[in-house]
Amino acid sequence: MDAAERRKRKSRRLRRERRIRLIWYTVLGIWGIFGIVGIASVAYWIFGAAAGTQVVYGGIKGPAIPAALGRGTADTQEDEPQQTKLLSEEDRSTCKRLLEENPALLVIANKDHGLSRDYDPDLRYICSGRLQAASAVYDDLVEMLAAGRNAGYEFWIASGYRSSERQQELIDEDVRSRMRDGMSYEEAMERVLREKLPAGHSEHETGLSFDILCSGNMEMDGTQADEPGNRWLVEHCSEFGFILRYPADKEDVTGITYEPWHFRYVGRDAAGFMEEKGLTLEEFTENAQCAGL
Ligand SMILES: [Zn+2]
Repeated sequence: MDAAERRKRKSRRLRRERRIRLIWYTVLGIWGIFGIVGIASVAYWIFGAAAGTQVVYGGIKGPAIPAALGRGTADTQEDEPQQTKLLSEEDRSTCKRLLEENPALLVIANKDHGLSRDYDPDLRYICSGRLQAASAVYDDLVEMLAAGRNAGYEFWIASGYRSSERQQELIDEDVRSRMRDGMSYEEAMERVLREKLPAGHSEHETGLSFDILCSGNMEMDGTQADEPGNRWLVEHCSEFGFILRYPADKEDVTGITYEPWHFRYVGRDAAGFMEEKGLTLEEFTENAQCAGL
């Protein structure tokens, strides 16, 4: 082998080694980048979640829900305090007495007040097993529907008890659907929470609330108010322990737009008193809390 041949072999070997080194550097480089990105992602997820900027809410990753909608965060609410209709001292005492007599039936669930995490109502089936209701409501509900039938009206209960998991599913479904239509997560959640309450905050989770539609009109919208059957319910429901929970003239108090179909059981005494004084459950509760002040 002459010198020229040896030089050629040597340079071929060097080129091969350089290629191998290059491949190794590339592999290590890519690995390194993935490693850094991975560590950064984990750190962002941990610290971001701790800072409330990146919580997982109902399986969808996004920004934290507004504090006022969070469970048990009523004291962090930043909205303007609402004007509450303050009753006379005697009436405030009546509110307090009624609340103390039956706190379970007067439990409040709304945007500001969530149910306790271990809230677990005693339930029984209604509507041939299609729905569930709190046991305490059963007799009065059956009696009210029977009285309505005697007056010539048929009703369809569209919704009764709903678990907080189901409430969350309904919110998630709506959010996903709006995101598919092009909204950002924040926009979609904001829109959905205008109409639905977050899990843990819906009255349906108490088993004390029912969406009652008039037979012949299955639309859960303002047209229910035009039905004679709905008018009968609104007029007579308090006799059976129910209140129209979200009246048209109390949207600023309840924080929920008018729902002519949503009835809430509070017991006959409380319902009669609330009907007589024109109180929402929020106003009733606040007056009870102001008794003796
Ligand atoms: Zn409802």
